[in-house]
Amino acid sequence: MSNRRPIVAGNWKMNKTVDESESLAREVAGVVSGVDDVDVVVCPTFTGLDRVSAAVAGTNIEVGGQNVHWESEGAYTGEISTAMLLTAGCSHVILGHSERRQFFGETDETVNRRLRAAIEAGLTPIVCVGESQSERESGTTARVISAQVNGALEGIGSDDVARIVMAYEPVWAIGTGLTATPEQAEEVHAQIRGELAGLAGQSTADGVRIQYGGSVKPDNAVELFSKPDIDGGLIGGASLEADSFAAIVKAAES
Ligand code: PEP
Repeated sequence: MSNRRPIVAGNWKMNKTVDESESLAREVAGVVSGVDDVDVVVCPTFTGLDRVSAAVAGTNIEVGGQNVHWESEGAYTGEISTAMLLTAGCSHVILGHSERRQFFGETDETVNRRLRAAIEAGLTPIVCVGESQSERESGTTARVISAQVNGALEGIGSDDVARIVMAYEPVWAIGTGLTATPEQAEEVHAQIRGELAGLAGQSTADGVRIQYGGSVKPDNAVELFSKPDIDGGLIGGASLEADSFAAIVKAAES
């Protein structure tokens, strides 16, 4: 880990009712309360945001949405606006998660539109990129990552790039129990930092946090987070239980 402040975010996906979300948020707040050198974010479902934000108010936990639309309002059934996230207490938003890309037609272009809206609204975007199993096996990982980073961040100025959090999430490792080895992850993280340097200059790129995501668990987090370009994690399954999420957060402490 470098001098970048690590960030660990829990992506609760389509799990937990409103009551369950509030309970989990309170439990997480209890177990991470002493952590002061890691940014901790939880991303419940849209319906859980308001109650979760109220439950963690005054703690060291921030709240994020799992997506946001680029328009401010209108006939966009099923979508949510930046103002809706902000007024529900969000400071962060996940964009371009592979499940959005895989199941809901998200593309680099739509991620870019969502990203511009998030930046404009002052939300901290967590922009996800990652290759599929067949892309890794066919040796095209670097090409895929390059296209995703440059496509998602197209036209974003360096001051705004500095505010983005990136997440490298190999699709084959998400929810599968398979994890990239720390070396595999570091190789792609270093590439992402290089792509960011090409877009925004080396010193900006050096300040951007890049999370790893893909079956991070308490027993593999320390090794992953010890790599120089890995600045914390985006956690799915293991964030649904307060103790395992807290153990991962603590693994990111310096
Ligand atoms: C994710 O969905 O962002 C994720 C990394 O999931 P998991 O930790 O369950 O692999």
